[in-house]
Amino acid sequence: MKAYVLEGINQLEYKEIDVPSLSAGYVLVEVRAAGICNSDIARVFTTGTYHFPTIPGHEFSGKVVEAFDVSGTPWIGKRVGVFPLIPCQICASCQEQSYEMCSNYNYLGSRCDGGFAEYVAVPVWNLIELPEGVSYQEAAMLEPASVALHAVRRLVMDDVSSVALFGLGTIGIIIAQWLHIYGVKTVITTGHSDKHGEIMKQVASDTYIYLDASSDEKKSIVDEVLHLTNEIGVDAVLDCVATSESLIDALACVKTGGQIVVVGNPKGDIEIDKNSYWKILRKQIRLTGTWNSSFTHSEKDDWNTVLKENANGNLHLKELITHELDFEQLHHGLAIMKNKSEYRNKVMICKKDE
Ligand SMILES: [Zn+2]
Ligand SMILES: [Zn+2]
Repeated sequence: MKAYVLEGINQLEYKEIDVPSLSAGYVLVEVRAAGICNSDIARVFTTGTYHFPTIPGHEFSGKVVEAFDVSGTPWIGKRVGVFPLIPCQICASCQEQSYEMCSNYNYLGSRCDGGFAEYVAVPVWNLIELPEGVSYQEAAMLEPASVALHAVRRLVMDDVSSVALFGLGTIGIIIAQWLHIYGVKTVITTGHSDKHGEIMKQVASDTYIYLDASSDEKKSIVDEVLHLTNEIGVDAVLDCVATSESLIDALACVKTGGQIVVVGNPKGDIEIDKNSYWKILRKQIRLTGTWNSSFTHSEKDDWNTVLKENANGNLHLKELITHELDFEQLHHGLAIMKNKSEYRNKVMICKKDE
């Protein structure tokens, strides 16, 4: 089969390798769509994967073509999405079905071979069947959409009617949609591209007020948010930017007794000044983190909720796909993401022959 094998940092080779052999309880998924995540850019170009060689790609969907020692549901021929985290099933978090916090997990596309290949070996436990009407492309967005939902679910929703959302990458834009679905009235977003304004109009309707962060001083984000909320501040801030500045802004924008969810992965150390730290104390801010997404095979877990809300038209995923490239064009896709040379949201590679 053809696969993109990361053999070292900045050494992603498109080559012919053996189709993976299956262990008991595994199926072979023929990949139909695989999205590029910002974390893949870091893995391929700067940080590498856990070991080499590894096939990256953790946002993918496909069709089950083979199964080995799998009981129960006949999976062969089924269209599936794939939860990329393979939990140990033993640790304390796994015992509580909080698999996203597993202390000894494996991960398709970073710790073991992932979706930038024609075929991937996947534990049957990690499969989610796609309902008719959900495309492979949409299913390749189950992961970021679930991560976004998980972040929103970290809020104590009781009296959240206004939210400031920092960072409008794929996750941020999907978070805005979830806030809308959860009935949040005012979502104030900041972003660096007016294209984001268009997308936000398409997918999150009229629930947001767009601030162009690129044309304003950083300070004005805080001023604007305070102005829009009668100097009270928003009920909650979700920070997908993850810099010292964004956290300091979040602490300044949130109301007394408000909530902050830190969502983004920081690129460097986060430092805040004493006055900002004091805001956590004096405003009694509830500051919380979010990690990955929940997948427990229950109707209400993040993944099944994404599928449901996507199928019933509340959650818009395909609108966020700006580039559907051929399977052979992954390097081009990575370059688009890395060089930021053109407007992009979700860039994915697809097999179109069906
Ligand atoms: Zn990702
Ligand atoms: Zn575990």
